[in-house]
Amino acid sequence: MLPPFLHTVFLHRPSRRAVRSITWPALVLTLVFATARAADNPSPPQLELQYHLRLLRPTTHLVEVEITAGQVAEPALDFTMPAWAPGRYAIYDFAKNVQEFEAAGAHEQPLRWTKLDKQTWRVETADAGGKVRVRYRVFANDLSGSFSQFDSSHACLNGASLFMYVAGHKPDPLTLTVETPPDWKLISGLSLSTEQRTFPVPNYDLLIDAPLEISAACSVQQFSERGKTIRVAVHSYADQDIDLSSLVDGLKKIVRSEMAMMPEPDLRDYTFIFHFAPGLPQGDGMEHFNSSQIIISGQLSGAGLADALETAAHEFFHLWNAKRLRPAGLGPFDYTREQYTRSLWFVEGVTAYYAYLHLLRSGVWTRQQFLEHLAEEIRGLELQPGRLLMSAESSSFHAWFYDRSPQMQETNFANTTISYYNKGAVLGMLLDLEIRARTGGRKSLDDVLLAMYRKFYAAPAADYYGLGHGYESEDILETVNAVAGSDFTAFFARYVRGTEPLPYAPTLASVGLQLRVSTSADSAPSLGVLTQRLDRGLEIVAVWPGRAAERGGLSRDDILLAVDDLSLATAELKDRLRIYPPGAEVPFTVERHGREERISVILDPPIPDQYSIEVLPGATAQQVSVRNGWVGAER
Ligand SMILES: [Zn+2]
Ligand SMILES: [Zn+2]
Repeated sequence: MLPPFLHTVFLHRPSRRAVRSITWPALVLTLVFATARAADNPSPPQLELQYHLRLLRPTTHLVEVEITAGQVAEPALDFTMPAWAPGRYAIYDFAKNVQEFEAAGAHEQPLRWTKLDKQTWRVETADAGGKVRVRYRVFANDLSGSFSQFDSSHACLNGASLFMYVAGHKPDPLTLTVETPPDWKLISGLSLSTEQRTFPVPNYDLLIDAPLEISAACSVQQFSERGKTIRVAVHSYADQDIDLSSLVDGLKKIVRSEMAMMPEPDLRDYTFIFHFAPGLPQGDGMEHFNSSQIIISGQLSGAGLADALETAAHEFFHLWNAKRLRPAGLGPFDYTREQYTRSLWFVEGVTAYYAYLHLLRSGVWTRQQFLEHLAEEIRGLELQPGRLLMSAESSSFHAWFYDRSPQMQETNFANTTISYYNKGAVLGMLLDLEIRARTGGRKSLDDVLLAMYRKFYAAPAADYYGLGHGYESEDILETVNAVAGSDFTAFFARYVRGTEPLPYAPTLASVGLQLRVSTSADSAPSLGVLTQRLDRGLEIVAVWPGRAAERGGLSRDDILLAVDDLSLATAELKDRLRIYPPGAEVPFTVERHGREERISVILDPPIPDQYSIEVLPGATAQQVSVRNGWVGAER
């Protein structure tokens, strides 16, 4: 997935942010069926499961779901809506949008049911005649990587927000049938045919791992790479006659680069589902088994195209790092509650780093663009007060607090948290360079990814869910040590589990580079606040600990109206403060609880905010050689 909105705000970063033929590989299918029953002990007999989706009245945003379970031998069946969906670590309680639940038996006789908890409907089956049919409607009007939307333009459907599972029967094979408006095409990872409407699916987990895009307006192109069909589907609200050529050209390069590095994935085809929706408040990206959903709040050109390629490079790499190589707990999933892992910095941050690397290796980016993006990640981390309080593992563990979670109480996250995407990407770079430096360029983080993939994914299935099994956080360190032939225990203790300042200077120097941090010429003395604009001034939304505003007694929720009687109604704070020297005592007119007050603050020096990674003069031939192994020789 893509970074949560919260951190892009707090970091002040620039906004960028079958069944004609079944898709699931025969190998996985075999393992799925061979091991399904072993995971459920004692296991109820398999049900005959049919999921039927009706898309009949777009303007109501109501999706009709019918689930039929045959061969019922248990006295009751629990139908459960997931509380969350893999890829986004937030409790969304999809059951909120379920309405008009009803249950019937083999002869359409009504069956008694009761709610066990917020998300579980228990249906009594004694009088069912061996078959239970439940029906309900789901209200769906969110275009995102987690929720669903059904309107007159399309149905963009994410299974976890629509489909209940039968408790104890997630491993059972099922059939999905979709009734669509006439002339709408159906795009998903389930089939390359856009006309197909019935799909066999190996199990519930894979059902909800295949988002559906159903519309009349979707443009589709495909290409092949290493024998795999890669399909690009684009639904754009901005353009009528869209030209996919630039997007497809970029995707070809990225897919080729990532497939050249990682082992052949166990899939026949892969589908990128893109939405270009100018005006949408925020975009999204979500990885899936053999597809991804990418929503760009912009057009298919310029910044929107660049954003789409960057997001695609990230989501496609998740095909290996997240969807297959995965932390324990992330597959098979318990959808009823939070699943904890300390390794999201590796799942998400290292994937972000590899997206950058493959944008470079594929030629979509120049070496300069690559180094600029890494410097921007470093800047984002170093300007976060929370880097001193929260480690990469802690940020991963606590994802449930802030991965696009609704915040109903005020939090101090701006001062206390970091993003596991952000620090994970920086750690990815540092680990890669450290491994390259210690091995004289013979090994890299690539070898760690490959070793982990072989050890934890490309192995016999431990359960019904895919191959291999999940790794624990210690396994990352052990694999790094084995690959590098060198002990990284201290590195992990200090920088992954700890909050020590990161070793930019020595690590970059080991490959003949340096981090330059400077203050821009037009910078102003620092107040140390985060603000948002109101019509009459600037509302303080965060006060940095220990800095000028906090020392002077300014508070969150104060509205800065004026500096020295000069209004802030339209002026920027930094433009007002630039005329003062650091150390000046400046009177602010502040609105607090509806009253105006004067509060004086002694300004801090400007905060260095220019970060760049540059060549270190006098690098040795060995350092230059390792550097060239990383970013290529300078052209
Ligand atoms: Zn991601
Ligand atoms: Zn669409």
